[in-house]
Amino acid sequence: GLALAVTACGANSSNSGSGGSSSSNSAGNGAKVGVILPETTTSARWEGFDHPLLEKKLKDQGFDPIIQNAQGDDQKVSQLADSMLSQGVKVLILASTTGDVGAAVEKKAAAAGVPVIDYDRLNAGGSADYYVSFDNVKVGTLQGQALADSLKGKQGAQVIEIEGAATDNNALLFYQGQQQVLKPLYDAGTLKLVKSQYTDKWDNQTGGTNFENFLTANGGKVDGVLAANDGLAGAVIAVLKKNGLNGKVPVTGQDATADGLKAILRGDQYMTVFKPIEQEADAAAKLATALLKNSKSDADKIATQKVTDPKTKREVSSLLLDPQSITKDKVKDVISAGAVAKADVCTGDV
Ligand code: BGC
Repeated sequence: GLALAVTACGANSSNSGSGGSSSSNSAGNGAKVGVILPETTTSARWEGFDHPLLEKKLKDQGFDPIIQNAQGDDQKVSQLADSMLSQGVKVLILASTTGDVGAAVEKKAAAAGVPVIDYDRLNAGGSADYYVSFDNVKVGTLQGQALADSLKGKQGAQVIEIEGAATDNNALLFYQGQQQVLKPLYDAGTLKLVKSQYTDKWDNQTGGTNFENFLTANGGKVDGVLAANDGLAGAVIAVLKKNGLNGKVPVTGQDATADGLKAILRGDQYMTVFKPIEQEADAAAKLATALLKNSKSDADKIATQKVTDPKTKREVSSLLLDPQSITKDKVKDVISAGAVAKADVCTGDV
């Protein structure tokens, strides 16, 4: 509609396009750095944002990056790691399918003397040297708060929660943050929880099927959906659409993908969470440089926070970046940050 055009897709909204400033140096000295990304279909972020940004940032640091995606296959994570270690990578940046697989890879890397940076997902029980991510509990509170806001005044509104994969530590943190906001409202009867379900492997189709089953079992009634990311939100919205409910039932998301932002402008999705991946990739590349130089002081200047490994209680030096809640009026901020192209969001159908 017209009102939307003014907020995100109108002439006033600009796209800086660059994704921030870049500074090149030769510190990496052509050293190989391995990057393993987990999946291609759970979120458009990994190949759409992380891959190109890590490539750019690692090259800016003078590295020779080897970036591969395990496509949701646990075995492929360890095969890729073996191959990267035998190619002589000096640092491994790891976003694993599951924490268990990641921790096993880290054992091998440690045996080969190769430091590991946990990227986005902490490998619980692992031995990574550093961890770079977002404040994932805050991601959850932003989702929970937005859902609560969207249902304000609807006493007893019925909520279905479609969560991520329980094998991904992040999904547990998102849930934790969401419940900080939602549990008191459920307890008070302000909102009513119909069903909460983790989604095996973050698989979008599974999430959609689960949602459809819960909706049917609840007599076709739902007032709000907590979907843990834009991919799951898309699957939920497809089911809502089949039932003539899209646009009437607020749905949360995460990752500020082009599809998620378009769904927000259409009115089918209530919000997403923007995590500036440019900053995450930049920090990972700079940490890799510090590790290559064996400079603990350089690394500790970047990773100033501590995260406790939930399995071993080990304190991991970390950097947790700040996520932002994006509702319709804020879509323009994601575009002006250069994270998505205006042309990819402001298409004919929104
Ligand atoms: C990431 C999310 C992503 C999800 C599914 C999580 O670990 O933090 O950004 O949507 O995995 O890929």
